[in-house]
Amino acid sequence: RSYLDRIKTEDDALNSFITVTETQALSQAEAADQRRSAGEAGTFTGLPIAHKDIFCTQGVRTSCGSRMLDSFASPYNATVIENFNTAGAVSLGKTNMDEFAMGSSNESSFYGPARNPWNNDCVPGGSSGGSAAAVAGRLAPAATGTDTGGSIRQPAALCGITGLKPTYGRVSRYGMIAYASSLDQGGPMARTAEDNAMMLNVMAGFDPKDSTSIDKAVPDYTLALNDSLKGLKIGLPKEFFSGEIDPQITTQVQNAIREFEALGATIKEISLPNTHLAIPAYYIIAPAEASSNLSRFDGVRYGHRCEEPADLEDMYKRSRGEGFGEEVKRRIMVGTYALSEGFYDAYYKKALQIRRLIQQDYVNALSEVDIIMGPTTPHPAFKLGEKSSDPIAMYMEDIFTISLNLAGMPGMSIPCGFANGLPVGLQLIGNYFAEERLLNASHQFQ
Ligand code: GLN
Repeated sequence: RSYLDRIKTEDDALNSFITVTETQALSQAEAADQRRSAGEAGTFTGLPIAHKDIFCTQGVRTSCGSRMLDSFASPYNATVIENFNTAGAVSLGKTNMDEFAMGSSNESSFYGPARNPWNNDCVPGGSSGGSAAAVAGRLAPAATGTDTGGSIRQPAALCGITGLKPTYGRVSRYGMIAYASSLDQGGPMARTAEDNAMMLNVMAGFDPKDSTSIDKAVPDYTLALNDSLKGLKIGLPKEFFSGEIDPQITTQVQNAIREFEALGATIKEISLPNTHLAIPAYYIIAPAEASSNLSRFDGVRYGHRCEEPADLEDMYKRSRGEGFGEEVKRRIMVGTYALSEGFYDAYYKKALQIRRLIQQDYVNALSEVDIIMGPTTPHPAFKLGEKSSDPIAMYMEDIFTISLNLAGMPGMSIPCGFANGLPVGLQLIGNYFAEERLLNASHQFQ
């Protein structure tokens, strides 16, 4: 009730929710009370949570931030949603996001941008900007997000919260509307690493409904939180501390790393030599996959359909023309072009080869060190509108997060200070399935 009240008074300013499910929340809370009085309560029983509007929720609008799905209520629940429901969590509603998760500022949302609670003139980051703003603004204690190129870590950094992108395949993508299937991964967003660990306990696991889900035992992520960091080898990639980066960010990140040294960790400079190729490779691979995934929105089965189509082709064209926003159309055009006959080898195949090199950089680095650290973003939160007319400037904001999705490894962002009164994020990167190590290091720091 207290969170629902806070949403009522604060969300006009933050616009962090697309849909608030008050009736459902109250009935889930009542069911949780009953479970509690029957002595059956677990960690999440009765705990309020908000879900990114990319996760399908049965009977509840699932818009993905798009006009295309504005009136779409899913007939089924995503596995992540089902897991939280089974654990007894109370869903407060669905959070704002960039349209189809394409963006770094939440400004591509059909519902208007969410705003940064630290400064309402600034973006909360994206694409999971609504989830980050809701948690940072104390409108929800926890929220789900998804990360294709940084969409959990970047908004977590800009809003001063903690977010984790798990290893690709660790969390089921079933019912998570696909953007770029080989990169998309759901994960937790909350105030602390400890909260992230509890959420990941619910979210992670094999799902036969997702062919890329990995059948590997799920540890209790809270158990390793208090391990000592003595002897932990931290690698600092020189590419993450050069180029277009706000010096205040560098200072805050370096201060944080000194604290890790004080906790017993050792530091080593490393190199991820292909980092500069990550953005170009990603902006071939992700749009290519998106152009294919988004072909299902044709006005026939579900989603927006134009008024009075003259014939089938007119219906496709106008339904898609009206339903998708500018950035989504740009990605579909780029992706379709890159996959066209004659261009495939020059662009898509080349991008896949670069992807392998980037992955190899991480594999090599993580054979020398336990954790890689650096800034999550090159700048703190920027002003609304500042980059919205310059797609390349927007893409560059993901310079430190995007390469990790190409490699498939887990990464986290935790708050590590302020620049001009706005939060700064420290990024931690680990080897495949090293989520426990990332959570442990983050918890010790926090
Ligand atoms: N900003 C990146 C993009 O627009 C990443 C988005 C994401 O991780 N969903 O593709």
